[in-house]
Amino acid sequence: MTSLPEIAARLQGYDPDDLDVATAQRFLSALVSAPEETETLALSQALDRVLAHDLISPINVPAHDNSAMDGYAFAGGALQPGQALKLRIAGRAHAGATWERALAPGECLRIMTGAVMPPGLDTVVPQELVTLADDGHVEIAPDLLQPGANRRHCGEDLRQGAVALARGERLTPAALGLLASLGLAQVQVFRRLRVAYFSTGDEIQSPGEAPRAAAVYDSNRYTICALLRRLGVEVIEGPPVGDDPALLEAALRRAAGEADAVITSGGVSTGDADHLRPLLQRLGEVIFWRIAMRPGRPLAVGRLGSGHRPAILFGLPGNPVAAMVAFIALVQPALQQMMGRRAQPQPLLQAVSGETLRKRPGRTEYQRGIVSTGTDGRLQVRTTGNQGSGVLSSMVQANGLIVLHHDQATVQAGQAVDVLMFDGAI
Ligand code: AMP
Ligand code: MG
Repeated sequence: MTSLPEIAARLQGYDPDDLDVATAQRFLSALVSAPEETETLALSQALDRVLAHDLISPINVPAHDNSAMDGYAFAGGALQPGQALKLRIAGRAHAGATWERALAPGECLRIMTGAVMPPGLDTVVPQELVTLADDGHVEIAPDLLQPGANRRHCGEDLRQGAVALARGERLTPAALGLLASLGLAQVQVFRRLRVAYFSTGDEIQSPGEAPRAAAVYDSNRYTICALLRRLGVEVIEGPPVGDDPALLEAALRRAAGEADAVITSGGVSTGDADHLRPLLQRLGEVIFWRIAMRPGRPLAVGRLGSGHRPAILFGLPGNPVAAMVAFIALVQPALQQMMGRRAQPQPLLQAVSGETLRKRPGRTEYQRGIVSTGTDGRLQVRTTGNQGSGVLSSMVQANGLIVLHHDQATVQAGQAVDVLMFDGAI
């Protein structure tokens, strides 16, 4: 973890109230680190967890040369250009059995997919390509295949002693299968990250309560906690907290004691009821406060407490779309690194904009977009219309965010834009 003086030095020359998104992402990436603790899990329990060390392959996969086809195995040296080859079937080699006897010249073996290649044989002719003669021979037409065809090589998937999976890899279905192919039943992963969340605001009430005058139902708790669950962290949810410094302080202290990261929403603007900044200054440290982005401009990032591993605080804006966008753009990548994952840029697609998108350089803008395939087969994107930062229904209609980068200006209809798709991103 980067020390506080180091962070302060890196922030020199930057305005913590006006950071561009890319710089903020870099600072966050330097600020956070993986948990020190790991645990060992059965493969069936390890989906979406993060590998805690480089995994060295204990064996070759496949462990032997084997047949890629159902067919006939023979020594490829017997193939002559322009000539047919007739071979006597000397026996059968099944997957899971081994064939020991060396074959005589002019002989072949009936072989099944996955069966170990018998000694001296290096080529397989698929069964549908041969002519079977009545006298126990097969005939291979001229120039049908090359020596060595249809043989899978020992270690062609994974080599013994090589890194099969790197530390920081997320254990996807394919990665779990790969571990199983190495014969491993267990895997060492980083402990689960603990993230506390509560909404703030005097007007916020919980769904299920009788409507109160001038109140707003707490949607942020449900969007953000769902995003956190998708990430695979342990979520510690709290009820909404009013705009009261004493209550907020108690809630922040409790959350910081229980979690690696604390996420709040609301109260990070500069209104009379926005208490988070002075509180954070007192309880820890403010690292930055505003990002040159829309929506999501006020975003508090700081540290709560001063111990060995102080909790990191992300104060999201209260507006429901702004909260989600700030989470996706900045908080999620930081949390992924805190889970132990390697830092990776968010994958962007390119799509042709169906409309003019007004934009001035100097901030990153995220517009809710609907991506589809055009009649020409290319990806196209249109916006959901009203881009108000409270219009949560537009996040339901959208399937991605159009990313208009910091230095980008107005995009004309027909120009390509970057899109961060929700599927895969959230
Ligand atoms: P704030 O960031 O506290 O100034 O809030 C900005 C706007 O977002 C206000 O209209 C709030 O009512 C609304 N808001 C704040 N928190 C929530 C929440 N948890 N759920 C839904 N709307 C919220
Ligand atoms: Mg508020």
